[in-house]
Amino acid sequence: MPVPLLDIHRQHQPLENEFKAAFARILKSGGFILGEEVAAFERDMAAYIGVDHAIGISSGTDALLVALMALDIKPGDEVLCPAFTFFGTAGSIVRMGAVPVWVDVNPDSFLMDLEDADKKVGPRTKALMPVHLFGQAGDFNEMRQFAERHYLAIIDDAAQAIGAQFDEQMVGAAGTIGAFSFYPTKNLGGLGDGGLMTTNDSEMAEKIIRLRNHGMHPRYHHSLVGGNFRLDALQAALLRVKLPHLEAYHDARAKNAAYYLEELKGHGGIILPTLLPNRRHVWNQFTIRVRDGKRDELRAFLAERGIGAEVYYPISLDRQECFRGVGRGAETLTNSHALAEEVLSIPVFPELTSEERQQVSAAIWQFGYQG
Ligand SMILES: *Cc1c(COP(=O)(O)O)cnc(C)c1O
Repeated sequence: MPVPLLDIHRQHQPLENEFKAAFARILKSGGFILGEEVAAFERDMAAYIGVDHAIGISSGTDALLVALMALDIKPGDEVLCPAFTFFGTAGSIVRMGAVPVWVDVNPDSFLMDLEDADKKVGPRTKALMPVHLFGQAGDFNEMRQFAERHYLAIIDDAAQAIGAQFDEQMVGAAGTIGAFSFYPTKNLGGLGDGGLMTTNDSEMAEKIIRLRNHGMHPRYHHSLVGGNFRLDALQAALLRVKLPHLEAYHDARAKNAAYYLEELKGHGGIILPTLLPNRRHVWNQFTIRVRDGKRDELRAFLAERGIGAEVYYPISLDRQECFRGVGRGAETLTNSHALAEEVLSIPVFPELTSEERQQVSAAIWQFGYQG
């Protein structure tokens, strides 16, 4: 039997009646943009993350963009961001006319290396954009100390890390602004695009709320140039159906990850992901490193057996065509460049069965050391 990398139907099928009821409620209300449905979702999310303000946004990418707008990042300002991450992290910086400063990542945790950041921070650097990649939180204390020392704001790219914790504090509650995504593959996935911003700063929250809707307040008075970054009522209502199950989804992912960490231990051909101390990892991806240049071979080997696996991410951002000559700091990105050749994410979604994960692990053993 094939094992998909992700099967979203398994998660949605038991919720079908609740989704239909939510749709019927929105249809009947005739209110499709923001409104009480979004406000209720924002209250639920603020409580879940443990933050004063949670603001529904059109997508995770827009959440990052609006965060930079809210912080008044100007053309020529610099933002420190990892070179090994999803495109949207750096795309938002460049869209503001700002300069991404490429920071290397730790090869074991895939998280931004603050020692490298320390070497690259400069007088025009205004913000730090850590990415809690694959669902593991960075060290909030180290990040805050770094940011204070260099007078930087922190924009947490928490798109893959809803529910992830450091020292029992949630990602999105510790920085200046947190940015989340409800893209369907995320741990809390919508039925379409959606995002969220979090902050404990009330003035910042007011500004974000304005920017989300063309900088307008009151009606047809514009003190800021914002845009349309609003969340649909329908999306908020559908996400509220899934939110009560999020903890169970996290737990099921963690069980699958624990299985792999145990079963694949001692496999000489791969390097398993590292769980850092004082964290709760939410395993948006379970990403192994394949030794000796065999990554693509292993991927093909799994594909022949019907097992889904994907490369997140095959090209570090400093090497993307559109970022040629853009940004600085690309000279020392050894780990980012190596990871792009080594990483492979295997199925870890909550509804993966024990037979399926056994099949995945057996296939990786069968592939062997081959080193
Ligand atoms: C998914 C993702 C985003 C973008 O979120 P969208 O909702 O797809 O716009 C940004 N950063 C990271 C790290 C992501 O994984």
